[in-house]
Amino acid sequence: HADRFGGQLVLITGAGSGIGRATAYAFAEAGARVVAVDRDGEAAARTAEMCRLVGATDAWAETVDVSDEQAMEKLAAKVATDYGVVDVLVNNAGIGLAGSFLDTTSDDWRKVLDVNLWGVIHGCRLFGRQMAERGQGGHIVNTASAAAYQPSRALPAYSTSKAAVLMLSECLRAELADQGIGVTAICPGLVNTNITSTARHAGVDAEEEARRQKKSARLYGLRNYPPEKVAEAILRGIVNNEAVVPVTPEARG
Ligand code: NAD
Repeated sequence: HADRFGGQLVLITGAGSGIGRATAYAFAEAGARVVAVDRDGEAAARTAEMCRLVGATDAWAETVDVSDEQAMEKLAAKVATDYGVVDVLVNNAGIGLAGSFLDTTSDDWRKVLDVNLWGVIHGCRLFGRQMAERGQGGHIVNTASAAAYQPSRALPAYSTSKAAVLMLSECLRAELADQGIGVTAICPGLVNTNITSTARHAGVDAEEEARRQKKSARLYGLRNYPPEKVAEAILRGIVNNEAVVPVTPEARG
């Protein structure tokens, strides 16, 4: 992908782990200039360091919580001043939340919507405006999930946040098409990252949830679906300007 992404400025949120980190490396290998954003600053710094080693034209780390609107405004201003207008934005930061609806508190809902939905809204608005003002196109990728269109008893709040991200992506795609700005929603099923270990379990027995996940992994034979393959799907989704990319086999079902 060096022809397409070489020298381009690519900002990825949640770049300190899992899918975001693998995506940062994929863009780095294509010679992009990478801004790795994560609320875990050390993890973001490690990603940026590795990006430089694997071929990024340049790479920087920024410590930001995507749910914090003021912090995101500061980030957008700093990036524009220091590095320029972002060519590709990947709104990927997200948190898990497992638990039945009746056991999930309002606080649980707020936490998951703050990161998974508001984080994406902040990124799309702030960097989308910069792209539109520059007038040279660009691409926004939002990491949704197969959970956005596959209802489950275990993930009502998470799934709702991802359904909102999917619809936001499609609306924004319609709005920005005339300006040469593409928008792609990525919908992976189960991927082997840290999200399952960091997922909060509202009123759910962690062991029961682990059993459920193992069962679904067995069912689909996907326990080890690697984040690198999601990263590949992200780069391909941009090149082909796809609206929605279901990634893992069960996500296509
Ligand atoms: P992960 O936990 O390995 O990585 C998520 C990263 O995001 C972490 O580095 C974390 O520090 C960061 N992060 C979390 N909240 C943040 C915030 N408020 N601000 C900034 N950074 C924040 O998980 P992952 O699986 O790589 O998840 C990446 C995205 O993929 C998420 O949006 C997730 O919902 C989505 N997704 C994951 C799977 C899966 O099975 N792993 C499936 C479908 C979709």
